[in-house]
Amino acid sequence: MSVAAIIVAAGRGVRAGGEMPKQYRALAGKPVLRHTAEAFAGHPSVDRVLVVYNPADQELYNAAVGDLELLPPVAGGASRQESVRNGLQALAAPETPEVVLIHDAARAFVPPEVIQTVIDAVADGGAIPALPVVDTLKRAEDGATITETVSRSGLWRAQTPQGFPFAAILAAHEAAAGEELTDDAAVAERAGIAVTVVPGAEENIKLTTQQDFDRAERALAGTETRTGMGYDVHRFGPGDHVMLCGIAVPHSHGLIGHSDADAGLHALTDALLGAIGAGDIGDHFPPSDPKWAGAPSDVFLKHAAELVAARGGRIVNLDLTLICERPKIGPHRETMRARVSEIVGTSEDRVSIKATTTERLGFTGREEGIAAQAIATIVM
Ligand code: MG
Repeated sequence: MSVAAIIVAAGRGVRAGGEMPKQYRALAGKPVLRHTAEAFAGHPSVDRVLVVYNPADQELYNAAVGDLELLPPVAGGASRQESVRNGLQALAAPETPEVVLIHDAARAFVPPEVIQTVIDAVADGGAIPALPVVDTLKRAEDGATITETVSRSGLWRAQTPQGFPFAAILAAHEAAAGEELTDDAAVAERAGIAVTVVPGAEENIKLTTQQDFDRAERALAGTETRTGMGYDVHRFGPGDHVMLCGIAVPHSHGLIGHSDADAGLHALTDALLGAIGAGDIGDHFPPSDPKWAGAPSDVFLKHAAELVAARGGRIVNLDLTLICERPKIGPHRETMRARVSEIVGTSEDRVSIKATTTERLGFTGREEGIAAQAIATIVM
C-alpha cells in the first residue's frame, strides 16, 4: 500500500507572535516544520512527503527542510482547504498514492505510533486521531455568563494526521471547493465518506500560542544526550602516596604533575568538558599558570561540573577506568565513588570506578605511571 503525506504549512501563524510564520520558528534548535517533516519522512510506512507552503517563504523553507527527501513543495491557496486541495492535486500524478495523510505543520510532535494507527485504520473510509473531551463543557455566548452545560459524552478533540483513501478524499475536496469546512474529516463527511476515530496523543499538540512554544521548549529540554571522553597519564616519582579520585592512596611512589597529578579526576574533568564541547582541562587551567601548582584536582572537576550545569546539563553517569599494576584500587573504590559523586554533585550510583592492569605490558605494566580513561554522559 503506498502512503503519501501532505504537510500543510502555508498559513501565516500570527497568533504565536514572532516575526516569522510559526512553522519556521525554531524549537529546540530546529524549525517547527523540520520536526514535523522528519516525523513523516522518517516513518517506515510513509513513502512520500509533500509540503504545501507559501512561495513567499521559499528561503525559510529551503533552510528548514531543503536537505530532506521531500517532494517539491506546492503553493498553498487562500484557505487551508484550498491548500490541501492543491496538495492532493499535485499528488495525483504521476504516481497516485492509495492512502494520503493530511497533517498540520504546527503539530510538530506527532508520535510515530499515531501515524501508524491512522494508516492502519484507513480502509474504504478515513480515520482521524482524536482524544476524548474530559473537561466539563460550558456554553457562554457572551464570554461571561453560562447559558448551558454541554454534555461531553461522545465528544472528541480531533487531531491530525487525518488519513483517507486518496481518490475519495481528492474527489471530496474538489466537490467542496468554495465551502469552508474546519478539517479534512468534515470534507469527507460532507461527501459521505465514513470516518473513524483512533487514539490520538496528548503530546500531539498544535503549536498555536507563545505559551504552547514555551511549554514545548520545556518539554524538549533534557532530551538531548551527550557523551564526552577523557584520558590522562601521570608518571610515578618520589613520594609515599598517590592522589586518585580525590583521595590519598598510600603507595611506594607519588605521582608527578603540575597539580596534585590526580589522573582519575583529570580524565573525568576532560570527559565532562568534552560532553559540552568546552575544550580540555589545559584550556581552563593552563599548566603555565603558577596558580595551579600543586592544586587539588577536585577544583578542576568541580569547575567542569559547574559548566555542565550552567549550560542546562545534568550528569547521567560517569565511568572511569584506572590503569595500573599498583596500588590496588579495589580497597579504595567505594571511597573514590563517594568522593567523585560529592565533587560533581550527583548520586553515587551514577559514578562508576573500575581498575585494570595491562598484564605488565607497556608503561603502566612497567609501573612507570598511571593512566585513566573516562566517559561522561549528560542530558541537556
Ligand atoms: Mg593530568
